[in-house]
Amino acid sequence: MTMQAYIPSGGLVGKLKRQAARRLSKLPLQIALEKPMVSFSFDDFPKSAGEAGAQILERHGWRGTYYTGGGYAGGETHLGRMYDIGDLKRLHANGHEIACHTFSHIDVGRTALEDVEAEIERNRKFLTACGFEGALETFAFPYGEASPAAKQALGKHFRVLRGVRPGINRGTADRGLLMAVPLDGGGAGLKRALNWIEEATRNPGWLIFYGHDVREAPSEWGCTLDFLETVCRAVAKSGTEVHTINCALDRIGK
Ligand SMILES: [Zn+2]
Repeated sequence: MTMQAYIPSGGLVGKLKRQAARRLSKLPLQIALEKPMVSFSFDDFPKSAGEAGAQILERHGWRGTYYTGGGYAGGETHLGRMYDIGDLKRLHANGHEIACHTFSHIDVGRTALEDVEAEIERNRKFLTACGFEGALETFAFPYGEASPAAKQALGKHFRVLRGVRPGINRGTADRGLLMAVPLDGGGAGLKRALNWIEEATRNPGWLIFYGHDVREAPSEWGCTLDFLETVCRAVAKSGTEVHTINCALDRIGK
């Protein structure tokens, strides 16, 4: 059965909640880079991101971060076929980062903290049972939906928490809700992604991309292989270093 896309709370209430999540409970992370850095991440994650997406990155000599929800293993969603255990093992063995995205892709902003903690523990146990031996060091909020309390609580489990608000992380960034630029939106989205690379080059910072499916007829949240390849070529041309989220943090020195 194909899962329908969940839409987080909209209207004024949703807007105010998102503002509070951004402005309150900031977890300061000082980022002072002489040269920009780029990270590529994929959420949920579709098999196409683990295959075509990883292959494109690897051809450039790079690795990505896969925000994995255990509940999606072997499934099928609006993003297409989802990853399976073989994808997880191969990506991990090839040096990609496997990271946490809750087990059931919950809206953290609308979930009691103890249930959020249980979701994270369930995800960790599931991935360990699948034979994944690494630690889950970083986290991405499903739908980018956070709350001040969740930022504080999850900031203790993970080095950083990533959101979905576009921007470059620099100066005093918020490690409780890192900004990230989508790999979606067709031609207009590609243009925006390329503009962010220029912006990161002009004024060095940490540019994090996040995507979903990578296939010829992508979902609204995905991109084509050409889209990703064009972004990678622009990053390569800019001379920017590319690291997984976890490795980028080592470079930042936190
Ligand atoms: Zn997600």
